[in-house]
Amino acid sequence: MEWHDGLFINTTDLCLALDPSTTRRIPKKARVLVSHAHGDHTGGFRYKGLKHSTQATRDIHHALRYHQVANFHPLKINEKFVIDDSEVKALDAGHMLGSAQFLVDTPESSILYTGDINCIDTLTTKAAEPARCDLLVMEATYGSPQYRFPARETVYAQMVEWALDTIKQGRIPCLHVYAAGKAQEVVRLFNLYTHLPVIVNPRLDGVNEAHRRSGIALDWFSASSRDGKNILDKDPCVYITTPGDRFHIGRRMSRAYATGWALSLGGKVTAFPLSSHADFDQLVSFVEACDPDRLYIFTGFAEDFRRAIRRRLGREARSVSSFVQRTLVEDY
Ligand SMILES: [Zn+2]
Repeated sequence: MEWHDGLFINTTDLCLALDPSTTRRIPKKARVLVSHAHGDHTGGFRYKGLKHSTQATRDIHHALRYHQVANFHPLKINEKFVIDDSEVKALDAGHMLGSAQFLVDTPESSILYTGDINCIDTLTTKAAEPARCDLLVMEATYGSPQYRFPARETVYAQMVEWALDTIKQGRIPCLHVYAAGKAQEVVRLFNLYTHLPVIVNPRLDGVNEAHRRSGIALDWFSASSRDGKNILDKDPCVYITTPGDRFHIGRRMSRAYATGWALSLGGKVTAFPLSSHADFDQLVSFVEACDPDRLYIFTGFAEDFRRAIRRRLGREARSVSSFVQRTLVEDY
């Protein structure tokens, strides 16, 4: 097992590249696995050889980047897939539609690679499932004890309340969220708990459609459609857009963000702690449930999380950042 801008698993017969960010180091005849459609995980879709992800991940990738992935075989959640001398199983990751963890059973050991995970159910995803494994390679985006999110239902209620208050003041509530995953969860939230029309940045249209095709009912109007423009002009509504969009209608918009980082923004902007990632407590419970012999952590608060795991669970962990381009197992 090695880490070069992504996880590489090598056996006698097989090389698997999991979420490689570039194609530079992928050997010929390797297989690429892509965990989900966020841009920092999809570099492997540019590889010419055979690639795997869920169908929804490929659909959303296409909707976001207009890139058709060829030489592709879809993986289904909870179905085993044999590649040479090993077996790969995609498990729910709970992070966005189509997101998967990969449990790889090689002749030597079982390895669980999480990609990005969220361990509770949302309006659009099922919680990440832990799996017993020998080696666990996991994200720790919010692996610091300062990140403990309130119950999701509480955050949902706060967002709806804020939107209704904003409308009462004669303004349009505008929520800035990631275009893939979070945006669709928020559209679904307003569809389910209000009768407000939901207008979205046209960039979200394709990703919303991909959700619809996967059976997640979403109702929205594109801001570029005639209906969308009319509603924005004169009716109460909610506007959902990307983090950087500065679209505005005179002085009539109030902005808010929905992100786990809300807990550390110190009230400088209106922000709701709605995250697509596991918080600190979820990450600790996840490690306990997987009960790995060896644990490797990547992204975020890897160092904080490593210390916390030692203190709370008496387990040793390694952060991947300190092992870049070296063999993980040998360095453990
Ligand atoms: Zn992600």
